[in-house]
This record gives sequence, structure tokens and C-alpha cells, in this order.
Amino acid sequence: MHRQTIARVFPERLRHNVRRVAHHAPGAKIMACVKADGYGHGMLNVATAINDEVNGFAVACLEEALTLREAGVEKDVLLLEGPHHPEEIEYSAQHGVTLKIASLDQLQWLCDTPENRRPPCWLKIDTGMHRLGIAPAEAANAYARLRQLLPADADIVVSTHFAQADAESSEATERQLNVFNGCIVTLEEFAQNGQQNKSGKHIGQSCANSAGILRYPQSHRSWVRPGYMLYGGSPFAFATAESLGLQPAMSFDTQVIALRDLSEGESVGYGGRWRATRPSRIATLAAGYGDGYPRSATDGTGVTIGRYLCPLAGRVSMDMLTVDVTDHPDVHIGSTATLWGNSPHVDEVAARAQTIGYELLAGMPKRVPRQVDE
Ligand SMILES: *Cc1c(COP(=O)(O)O)cnc(C)c1O
Repeated sequence: MHRQTIARVFPERLRHNVRRVAHHAPGAKIMACVKADGYGHGMLNVATAINDEVNGFAVACLEEALTLREAGVEKDVLLLEGPHHPEEIEYSAQHGVTLKIASLDQLQWLCDTPENRRPPCWLKIDTGMHRLGIAPAEAANAYARLRQLLPADADIVVSTHFAQADAESSEATERQLNVFNGCIVTLEEFAQNGQQNKSGKHIGQSCANSAGILRYPQSHRSWVRPGYMLYGGSPFAFATAESLGLQPAMSFDTQVIALRDLSEGESVGYGGRWRATRPSRIATLAAGYGDGYPRSATDGTGVTIGRYLCPLAGRVSMDMLTVDVTDHPDVHIGSTATLWGNSPHVDEVAARAQTIGYELLAGMPKRVPRQVDE
């Protein structure tokens, strides 16, 4: 026996979404972002599903990188934030993990690491996000130092990250791209003058997250870094995932465990937030905020039970939530309910809860088993 509250994960939909990335950015290599346990889908479930279709995996911390390596993943693994501590550099080299060098401190740590124990590196420039990255004015110097520290044939990809590629206005992103392009011109001049870029290749570059991939073709460069779109979500508030041709890779399912009939005027749940305005039938479902469903979801948020999209009724509890099924008399104990998946989409639930689908997916707790559909 096991609880019927599960997150079903669909490998074929993950692969479909990777093909959407390739469709938008045909010339670029794909660095799939699988941090935060694969945006809640299970990092290894995701890596297994799309390993053959991508060129590498990006993670936030060394623990995540090692989980991939221990599972036998052989593709590039990129640590997006770079090392958090000097010791992580040698450790990364041992496990073939690529580091982003995103600060002068990290560059110094690399310098202090014996030459034969330095991992492959990308360089991150801060073009406007102001969270991590080398200042544009210092980029050429940092690149020159990095070139000296790494083998002559090392492919140092220069990257940046957008702060507002999901916004309606393109102004901030265009500004960031201009700053980035300026840095690249300087670095290429340096590489040619100093004849340091021995391969004679252009400098590898990476800018685009999901929003960049979908909206800014001029940002695609050599590597794209899709995250949310791989999982079938839309990074934009103004465009649905469906309109972008993306398929939700998860169905968060539970079941009806109780039904009751209420008279007009009776209320449901903590605080009595929802009140029956007519004789009503309430279904109680076996999932709550302890399973990652947002407590902030408002009355009326859609929950699919059987074939019907029904309104949430009353405050979400830790282990249960309540739904108005008055109009659907065939809903019964044991009926399957979908909290997010095809319908409602996680982006819709998130909008009702004043957040984004990223947070809902990344916040799904271990208690909900991830079940891979084959
Ligand atoms: C998480 C992350 C991404 C992916 O962003 P999405 O919006 O999920 O596509 C790309 N680049 C960096 C540096 C990130 O941290």
C-alpha cells in the first residue's frame, strides 16, 4: 500500500521540450539546467530522460554535480555558481566538473590550485544581474589570467545571465547584450593580439536561459542554458506554455478521500474562508501544503477531478485540500485529482498563489514520490 499522492514524470515530454529548445536555437549546444532536483522532477529522472539529447547539465552546487557523476552521467557538468570554497576546485577537477569563474576571488583560488589539478572553466561576466560575475571593466584582465592558468587549448566559454528576459519590455535585456557584446569584442582582440587563443577559434559564449531562447535569437551563441522550458513551463507571464508548444513534464496527482454535503451558509476549512452560497458538495483531497501545494492558493483555483476542472474551496491544509464538486455528482471517493499537469498548468496554479511555477516545482518535498512514466 502507498499513498496516492504522487508526481508522475513523463520522459517523452521532457524530450519533446528539449526538441523545442533545439528548434529555437538550432546552432547551439544545450546545457540543461537540472538544479533543485531537476526543478522538482528528480534530477536523475531528468538526466536519464534527456542525456542523449543534450550536451551537458548545469547545477547550482557541487553536491548536485557529484550526484550526476555518481549516477554515471558522462556529459559535461557545469557548476553555475562556481566554487563556494577553494577546496571545491580540486574536487571538481577530480570529477571532471566544469566551474564557472564568477568572481576575482574564485580566480585567485584557481591560481592557488596546483596546475595539474585545475578543472575546465567558464568565465561569467556581470552585465546587469548584479548577483554573480566579473565586472565588464575587469573581464579582459580576468580572461587573460584564466587563459594563463588553463591549458592552451582550453575552451573557455564566456557567459552572462539575464535579469529580465521574461519581461514584456526588451530594454534591459538588450542593454545586457550590448554590454556582453562589448566584452566579447575586447576579449577577441586580446586573444588575437596575444595569440593566446591558439586554436584560432572564436570565443565560446553563453547567455540564454529559457526566456532568452524563446525570445532573443541574437542571444543564442554557442551554448544555451534552458531550465524551466525543459519542464514544460512558460517563463513569461504573457504567454502560456501551450502557446509555446511546451508540454508539462509532471502531473501532480492525488485522490478524493472524503465527500460531504453542506447546507447554504456552512463554511469549509481553517478560518472558514469559503462559505457555501447554495447547498454544496465538498470533496476532500489527500494533498496539502506539506506536499508542495501552495497554501496561498485562492478559492477558485482549478483542480481537475476526473474530467472536470473544479474550484478550490477553503484554505489549503498541510495534508489535505477541499474542492467544490457540487456540479459533478459522479465524483466519488477514490476519484483521481490533478493539482497541476496538463490542466490546470502549474503556471496557472502559481498565478493564483502569487508566485511562479518555478517555485512550486522546486519546492516539492520528498514526501511526494516521483514516479517515472515509461
Ligand atoms: C537556472 C539558470 C538558468 C535556467 O533558467 P530558466 O529560466 O529556468 O531557463 C540559466 N542560467 C543560469 C545561470 C541559471 O542559474
